[in-house]
Amino acid sequence: MTTSRYLPHGAFFRDLNEAVDGYFESTKTSRQATPGMWLKTIFILTWFVSSWAVLVFAATTWWQALAAALSLGFAMAGIGFNIQHDGGHRATSDTQGWNRAMALTLDVLGGSSYIWHWKHNVQHHTTPNVAGHDSDIDIEPFVRLAPEQQWRPAHRYQHLYTWFLYALLAVKWHFLDDIKDVITGHIGTRSFPRPKGFDMVAFVGGKTFFFTWAFVIPSFFHPWWQVLLGYFIVSVVVSLSLALTFQSAHCVIGAAFPSGEGQREWARHQVMTSIDFAPRHPFWTWYLGGLNYQLEHHLFPRICHVHYPAIAPLVRAVCEKHGVEYQVMPSVGFALASHARFLAQMGRAPDAATVPVVA
Ligand SMILES: [Zn+2]
Repeated sequence: MTTSRYLPHGAFFRDLNEAVDGYFESTKTSRQATPGMWLKTIFILTWFVSSWAVLVFAATTWWQALAAALSLGFAMAGIGFNIQHDGGHRATSDTQGWNRAMALTLDVLGGSSYIWHWKHNVQHHTTPNVAGHDSDIDIEPFVRLAPEQQWRPAHRYQHLYTWFLYALLAVKWHFLDDIKDVITGHIGTRSFPRPKGFDMVAFVGGKTFFFTWAFVIPSFFHPWWQVLLGYFIVSVVVSLSLALTFQSAHCVIGAAFPSGEGQREWARHQVMTSIDFAPRHPFWTWYLGGLNYQLEHHLFPRICHVHYPAIAPLVRAVCEKHGVEYQVMPSVGFALASHARFLAQMGRAPDAATVPVVA
């Protein structure tokens, strides 16, 4: 499905924009990063660099190294949630250079901001939860994350084993996906333009920089097996943090998985497929970069995440006025349990008459 398949924007979209525009006009605030957001950016980047420095240069016992590795993993996920994600959506600043700089933090972490743009901004945000179009729900053939995806007998156990696959997400990005995507010119089944010019320099430079700080420099100070073990622990923390946060907002009981051919408004589609969790929880709202306000994020991805708690009640009121269900889960634990139940539900053998089944 492409955006052209969506119905034209209607009164729901207009009312959402009126409510949110009204908020920014009446409070005279910018939609982009506030001074508090810049401080948060500096804090998280400092947390990242100091965790790495302690891990490589200062830790002398196994428990000090483990604590530093866990800290580094959570700091890296924090950069993804708060800094790179906003920058990639051009929500940090009116100055594109700042957005670009924030987006490039993903390349520092071993990912690729260029491929992320196509995967996340284009594929995921345009068609969330549409099988065959949203790469975030494509873990086929190992995991079935949408009713339209083919069921296989092993999926009966996916609520038990999928967590281990999530834990390997970053390793897969670092060593496989990005490089394979650039060589083939495809993300999943969909093609995308290969990086050129600055984008190619950032891709190669980012990977080189990442491998230098993650493997080369530590190997001057520690045996190779300790470097690999440290990398693995950090990667597992990053992977689980990212995967569970995104899956908790889309792949849960109550989220819709619309057909690619469905006729609906873009804004309704975004609300049907996104569910907030743990709203107003001070720690999660701070650490997850507003991704617990996923519904607001999908409607207004160009607004910096620090504004989501303020606009959420306005969005909810417009949804209620238009009879669009606004779904919220009360806590992180509830969201994770809902994702586990969703995995079990998708893993059950479907009605063969309605869903394609592979023996
Ligand atoms: Zn996003």
